[in-house]
Amino acid sequence: MSISVKRIEANLSAVRSRIASACASRRRNVEDVTLVAVTKTVDVDAIKTLIELGVCDIGESRVAQMLERRREIETWLGGSEFKGQPVRWHLIGHLQRNKVKIAIEAADVIHSVDSLRLADEINGVCEKLRRVARVLMQVNCSNEVQKFGVAVGATVHLGELITTFPNIELMGLMTMAAFSDNPEDARPTFVRLRELFEEMRSEKIATGSFGHLSMGMSQDYPVAIEEGATMIRVGSALFE
Ligand SMILES: *Cc1c(COP(=O)(O)O)cnc(C)c1O
Repeated sequence: MSISVKRIEANLSAVRSRIASACASRRRNVEDVTLVAVTKTVDVDAIKTLIELGVCDIGESRVAQMLERRREIETWLGGSEFKGQPVRWHLIGHLQRNKVKIAIEAADVIHSVDSLRLADEINGVCEKLRRVARVLMQVNCSNEVQKFGVAVGATVHLGELITTFPNIELMGLMTMAAFSDNPEDARPTFVRLRELFEEMRSEKIATGSFGHLSMGMSQDYPVAIEEGATMIRVGSALFE
């Protein structure tokens, strides 16, 4: 889909002002909330527009598309930065083990680690490449039967295991709320994720860089910010 620069600019400014008011309502700093622009449904020109408007965190859900777009954008930029700002690529979709190699090449942050087998594969690939993968653990916090995400009851234990991998840096937790027209319906899901996060921090299971909550999409990002999100993943609100 192709959208005009003016449209994206207007949508972005509306999103930024809603981020600012959600932060203000909880006395949070806007700098502590990263807007990840989810570009899976739009063309590469929209990504260029976003970067020129200062949005340097890009989210994609498929590894192959992400790598292709990353290469195209880096050729356009002549590197991986825009005016000294690194452009970072976030893999937000489900990751299959046979795609880990491409994912490591394409993504700066993987939001969707949801099993020990996947973490083990990531660690192995990174060991060979002498790299450290920055990942979030995806948790299924809504009561809805979801395809992906670690069960709430297994999260702390899995987190503990993941932090033992030398080539993985566990940066935090990610969740998706069940779809609803009412953003308030998402609040219990976000509260649950924050509680798990606080539990893991207080038990010193994950320390250091464990500081992120990736939660909130177009439908519910202000609520997610009120509940502590440090990364929001917004797609359609930027491109409608
Ligand atoms: C598509 C997607 C988003 C963005 O959704 P919008 O409703 O378009 O904002 C966020 N997170 C994940 C995991 C997605 O797949």
